[in-house]
Amino acid sequence: MAGEPQPDCLFCKIVSGEIPATIIRETDTTVAFRDINPQAPTHVLVIPRLHHPDAASLAAAEPQVLADIVRETGEVAADEKITGTGYRVVFNTGAGAGQTVFHAHAHVLGGRGLQWPPG
Ligand code: 5GP
Repeated sequence: MAGEPQPDCLFCKIVSGEIPATIIRETDTTVAFRDINPQAPTHVLVIPRLHHPDAASLAAAEPQVLADIVRETGEVAADEKITGTGYRVVFNTGAGAGQTVFHAHAHVLGGRGLQWPPG
């Protein structure tokens, strides 16, 4: 059920500490950690503590937590000193868009030039 920890969810296991991750920021509602397969010098994932399968379902169920995530992406960028050069926040939504982990997450990418449109 949305909001409940899912036993087979990788990111729920990172939230609970069952799977280790390089956590760089935490709030009451969010956790930010480095992506295991970074696509840029800064590649951080910001996730809700509670399980929701994607950003759209999180927005529908708990819009304040989605706002918390977006705020945290800015805090990550400031911590990583990439606000001046620019950075990208991405919510892959659906397998066809490249989503592979079905626990909502924002990618924060920066520290190099980023092309548009993305692939
Ligand atoms: P998606 O493809 O769903 O938008 O993003 C999932 C991200 O999770 C990918 O960028 C992938 O590298 C990352 N990822 C997958 N498994 C792990 C893991 O065990 N630990 C961490 N830190 N990141 C992971």
